[in-house]
Amino acid sequence: MISLTPSHIIEYLYCPRFTYFEYVLGIPQYEEKHYKVIKGRELHDIKLERNKEYLRKKIGVQSKWLDQYLTNGYLRGRVDEVLLLNSGSMAPLDYKFAEYKDRIFDTYRQQLICYAILIEDNFNKKVNNGYLVYVRSKNKLVEVLISEKDKDLVRKSIGRIQEILEKNHFPKATKFKRRCLSCTYRNICIK
Ligand code: SF4
Repeated sequence: MISLTPSHIIEYLYCPRFTYFEYVLGIPQYEEKHYKVIKGRELHDIKLERNKEYLRKKIGVQSKWLDQYLTNGYLRGRVDEVLLLNSGSMAPLDYKFAEYKDRIFDTYRQQLICYAILIEDNFNKKVNNGYLVYVRSKNKLVEVLISEKDKDLVRKSIGRIQEILEKNHFPKATKFKRRCLSCTYRNICIK
């Protein structure tokens, strides 16, 4: 089974055909994609901003594991911090070298959901929420609730992505036609 990253899931949820063009046909996407994922972050600056103990106090953290590379056979990812909360559940915390713009980008949410699945499978504890720290907004801490439905959607997407990759399956286009306007593959995609 191919091991996927949060980027695969985010791209698939944006449009299943995106997965086909990029990973089955091997046509590279271009950097100007408007939902730029995790690549743009400046790790050095993030590292400087880490280890803010007061953030963890605010959340109520019992233990923490930094920079965790986790995998469960079909998904993999590096989580900035895995937290054991006072409630007994666990949560991923991710630093974003970004400003908080009053809404949580879906890419960030999906990434946290992937991490939640990885934490549950590796630590054998429940994950009900995750945290984002916006470094460029004075380390603003934002809680993101993660439901079973969210995790199921990601698990189902993983099954579908595997099908596209393993069977060369050409999937349906996204229902959201507006996305095609700025899509890297719009010139080769049959509508
Ligand atoms: S052009 Fe539209 S349907 Fe085709 S891959 Fe891009 S977003 Fe999907």
